[in-house]
Amino acid sequence: MSEEKTTRGIAILGSTGSIGTQALDVIAAHPEKFTAEVLTAGRNAGLLIEQAKLYKPNCVVIGDEDQYQAVSDALWDLGIKVYAGAAALEQVVEMENVDIVLTALVGFAGLRPTMKAIAAGKHIALANKETLVVAGELVTKAAREAGVNIYPVDSEHSAIFQCLVGEFHNPIEKIYLTASGGPFRGKKREELAQVTKAQALKHPNWEMGAKITIDSATLMNKGLEVIEAKWLFSLKPEQIDVIVHPQSIIHSIVQFEDGSMKAQMGLPDMKLPIQYALGYPDRLSSDFPRFNFMDYPSLTFEQPDRDTFGNLALAFEAMQKGGSLPCVLNAANEIAVAAFLEDKIGFLDIQRVIEETMKGVEHVAHPTLEQYIEIDEKARAFTRQLIH
Ligand code: NDP
Repeated sequence: MSEEKTTRGIAILGSTGSIGTQALDVIAAHPEKFTAEVLTAGRNAGLLIEQAKLYKPNCVVIGDEDQYQAVSDALWDLGIKVYAGAAALEQVVEMENVDIVLTALVGFAGLRPTMKAIAAGKHIALANKETLVVAGELVTKAAREAGVNIYPVDSEHSAIFQCLVGEFHNPIEKIYLTASGGPFRGKKREELAQVTKAQALKHPNWEMGAKITIDSATLMNKGLEVIEAKWLFSLKPEQIDVIVHPQSIIHSIVQFEDGSMKAQMGLPDMKLPIQYALGYPDRLSSDFPRFNFMDYPSLTFEQPDRDTFGNLALAFEAMQKGGSLPCVLNAANEIAVAAFLEDKIGFLDIQRVIEETMKGVEHVAHPTLEQYIEIDEKARAFTRQLIH
């Protein structure tokens, strides 16, 4: 970040989503600290136009090229530059007035723009966990070489990051990622066979986009977070554990080599980790609701049921084997979740097709970026074949 500037220029990739809209609230609450320089949407041109009129960014990108003209017509008199398509997304992250790129789009689509942003020396506020799941080795190596920081936005990883402040020289013995357990906690496999999309989309504690909400119901979200944690904090697989904590008040825990454990707590509200990532190392004031102990007289913990929620076990397997397997797991999961949301497959089929894809796609030990793109396509095709 340049010395003379007092504000941080933020590019939000996925400004029309759950994380993106909350990030804009954070920016609006701290105009002395942040400016929205770049906003991007996939298809929601209406909301992108509304956001652009309000926040006056330098430029916007609409992923869906068919909507370019409508966005351009709506914004031309404001002097806001308008671009369209996936390639534009990779270019706007390089803009000079951008200091931090918040990656808040969903899935594999985040990988290339994140790599471009790192190459351009931009710090990353990372919500798009799939980027680290797919290519964690490549992404973290590129960030190290470019001297770029990756600030976690995921609440669990933000919790770990917050616990590590002042401890960066102290080795971690173990981390515990907390999981709410999702809407089907306590259910057995037979009961899951018939669950509906509407039930799976009802998360007990968090309001999120559709894909991550289904991932939370299958526990794949926790599995993806385990892999994300490995790369963010340079951990060995055996140093990462998951504990179910249905109240979602303790966001995660670090255990140090002296046995001491540090946890970060608070009400479930994504604005806090978003603000911490954008404002690091400062804690900016907020009017977010405060925790009241009397509302939560007991905080409870359980072991995750890895037999019923087999996706968690699959993610651990992918992390342990490494190479291209997490990329295959992620691709299969993206296709399976989309198919479930379109009522093409049942809830338990999600795990089945991921498992089959992991067995069916050839393993590569150290893929390059181009190989990851090929492997992702191969795995998607394999899963699609299983579904149709
Ligand atoms: P949403 O579905 O709510 O939003 C996704 C955003 O990305 C939208 O702006 C969407 O545009 C855009 N987008 C989606 N696909 C593409 C694409 N192919 N090209 C360009 N833009 C695209 O997702 P969330 O905000 O819930 O999640 C975003 C990321 O953050 C995910 O990786 C998720 O795992 C992670 N995360 C989310 C949390 C949450 O509380 N929501 C918590 C922790 C992590 P449009 O809608 O205009 O089509």
